Amino acid sequence: MAENGLKKKLNIAVVGGGLVGSLEALYLAKRGHNVSLYEYREDIRNTPQVRGRSINLALSVRGRTALKDVGLEDHIIQNHGIPMKARMIHRTDGSTYEIPYDARTNQCIYSVGRNYLNGLVLKETENYKNVEKHFNHKLIEANLQKGALTFLNTDTKGTVQVNADLIIGADGAFSAVRKAMMKQPLFDYSQKYIEHGYLELCIPPTEDGQFQMPANYLHIWPRGNFMMIALPNQDCSWTVTLFMPFQNFKAIDSEESLLDFFTKYFPDSIPLIGQKRLVEDFLGGSPSPLLAVKCRPYNVADKALIIGDAAHAVVPFYGQGMNAGFEDCTLLDRLFQYHHDDLAKILPEFSETRWRDTFAISDLAMYNYIEMRDLVTRPSYLVRKAMDDF
Ligand code: FAD
Repeated sequence: MAENGLKKKLNIAVVGGGLVGSLEALYLAKRGHNVSLYEYREDIRNTPQVRGRSINLALSVRGRTALKDVGLEDHIIQNHGIPMKARMIHRTDGSTYEIPYDARTNQCIYSVGRNYLNGLVLKETENYKNVEKHFNHKLIEANLQKGALTFLNTDTKGTVQVNADLIIGADGAFSAVRKAMMKQPLFDYSQKYIEHGYLELCIPPTEDGQFQMPANYLHIWPRGNFMMIALPNQDCSWTVTLFMPFQNFKAIDSEESLLDFFTKYFPDSIPLIGQKRLVEDFLGGSPSPLLAVKCRPYNVADKALIIGDAAHAVVPFYGQGMNAGFEDCTLLDRLFQYHHDDLAKILPEFSETRWRDTFAISDLAMYNYIEMRDLVTRPSYLVRKAMDDF
């Protein structure tokens, strides 16, 4: 019998050291398995962060449950996360009003820094001798039936062959592990790009380092077919995200058209962002696409499994992509416990019990875009009609 009461210590390769892969590596290390984490990029903890430009995310109960399991929830909630208790809606005349998330019991969501959270989880793995991390390793080939992986070491330009009892693909929306799964018979796959893209802007802190808007809110500027949102950062800046059809982004191609557009739709945001910064960031950036992926099954026999965005990338309007990925890790851990680490039982059961929920989250996320950008401003009878039409 191996340590931790395990019948056998498994050698597990986790591909992708983003939010979900690093958390999964931590869960598996806590169970006592030998974990090797392979990440394409360099260690995020050594990557300099540009002030006020970090993407932040809304952490909710699914994500918190997972962080609690690995002993990090208190740290995140007490030392880092910024509670957002309500949506603050900005009208075009600059006036605002609140819509609480939970007026009855005051539950809220938390704004957390993506890099901070990712770095914290990676750091926590340092406490486990049974985790090895390999940064600058890009998966280039996989034989999932055999548990065999080939990585390109982007430092040395050499290739690295790896064999594992279990491969976990947590390599994001464009997953190389999923690509290998697509060769399996009976693997269903669909993807959808929406016609809207997103561009990140920034509201800096005041000169004396304070927030320029009330901090404990998710701010929304709903404008019908498009919207802007802002989440607070720990340095008192705001990450502002404009979601809009690509054709509208394209039409704004000069300083004049940009300022006309913002003066018409988001006038109160111009002094907050600063005109110069707005022009530089908007015209210097380009909008990114938004993709939803549905596929199943998530496993190949007892050898490989995909989780997180690799299994179910969703559009971000429900704030549940990372949270659902973290929930994958929690559910998987429960199955490891229940089935005493028997992969032949765990992997098919995860696939079969998980896909309906992730498909539902995906549909809810698509719907919530309409809610956030438009219905949030309407009387409830119109909301009901729009939901019927959806
Ligand atoms: P990723 O974060 O994409 O990580 C995948 C990792 O795999 C990366 O580190 C990548 O470098 C690595 N990788 C990729 N290919 C390879 C390879 N071939 N070999 C080795 N490594 C590889 N979710 C929320 O819950 N709340 C929010 O508020 C929220 N807001 C969002 C806002 C926006 C604008 C967007 C775009 C998304 C948002 N999300 C949110 C979704 C969230 O970002 C994702 O669900 C989450 O990042 C998924 O984590 P992941 O680890 O599965 O994938």
